[in-house]
Amino acid sequence: MEFATWAYPWDILDEGPRTTVEQLRDLGIGEINLATNYHAVQTFSPRNPDRKTHFAHASSYFQPDDRYGTLAPTPYEGMDGDWVADITRQIDDLRLTSWTIGCHNSRLGMANPDVTLESPFGDDLIFGLCPSHPAVQAYLRALVGDLADREKFDRIELETFDYFYGTGFGWHHQKIHAELGTLGEFLFGLCFCEHCRGHAAAADVDVTQARDTAVNTIKDLIAGRLPADTPPDQWLRQHPQVGAYVDVREDVLVELYADLATVSGTTPLGYYVGMPEPGREWMAGVDLDRIAHHVDYYCLPAYESSRDTVLDAYRTVDAFISDIPLHVGLLPGHPAIHDGATVSNILDGLQRADVPRVSFYNYGLLPEQSLNWIEAAIQ
Ligand SMILES: [Zn+2]
Repeated sequence: MEFATWAYPWDILDEGPRTTVEQLRDLGIGEINLATNYHAVQTFSPRNPDRKTHFAHASSYFQPDDRYGTLAPTPYEGMDGDWVADITRQIDDLRLTSWTIGCHNSRLGMANPDVTLESPFGDDLIFGLCPSHPAVQAYLRALVGDLADREKFDRIELETFDYFYGTGFGWHHQKIHAELGTLGEFLFGLCFCEHCRGHAAAADVDVTQARDTAVNTIKDLIAGRLPADTPPDQWLRQHPQVGAYVDVREDVLVELYADLATVSGTTPLGYYVGMPEPGREWMAGVDLDRIAHHVDYYCLPAYESSRDTVLDAYRTVDAFISDIPLHVGLLPGHPAIHDGATVSNILDGLQRADVPRVSFYNYGLLPEQSLNWIEAAIQ
């Protein structure tokens, strides 16, 4: 079993890349999943010698090259030079993975509302770029190509290279006091931009009927005329026009991933599964079986609290895939896990399930005792 940890560039640079390498070697970890292009965030860094918190809009921590079109990553304003290059230059004896955010980018969305997801009501959902839009597809291809050409990366892992689900990941002070439920969140985030509508119409889907049905169902949920716990899978079977509209998105993403596999060249690609929940990746437009032809592995962040719940999540996703490995991510700290025995017990279960690689979330966010639990569990 291989072990990796997600990490932010500021935490590694503040500590000193060589110190990080020594620390990780002591823990038994041989790989860093380094945030290269990242969403808006505030972090809390308990062990960082220079800062306890970091605020940023969606940013890249490298200087993008000149291959981009209308959409390009925005380098973090507080960065002097190129943090990814600074780190990769100093770390050549540990494997490095690019941890890469795709469509969840509220900075680009706010500046370019025409390329964002569009709700059934016509709102621009600025937290998510729509992967049906040609400019977004060009952006994602350029991003993967740019990172693949930085030969330092052993893998590129893709997060939210899909139709970002629902109402967002929690905007500042998000205020939602109507009970939408999973179905309502899903339908509210279902994109009806001109490109999504165009793809569906080309596949002979009645787009107007699909959109009207989505709008009326959300209104029914808000008014309490439809139970908020209505299962979306079952509801879609009863509303085949919306089901057909949803299915077209999967075809679009399969084509996009075929392109991403081409531009990544020989650098292996991984995709983060389990969003919005394990086994319901279709809600983000992802057909796990078909995308598997274009990526080398999946990684399931299973930030659960027990061996049983981690293994349940693992088996739920594993049942949908046959051809490629499924890696797992664990959160050995608050709020998921509060003791070392649980980390060891989960790792034991994953080893028995033949999981080839486990990544820990996240080197800079975890306090000292969590690192000790990791070390003990690996040993
Ligand atoms: Zn769209």
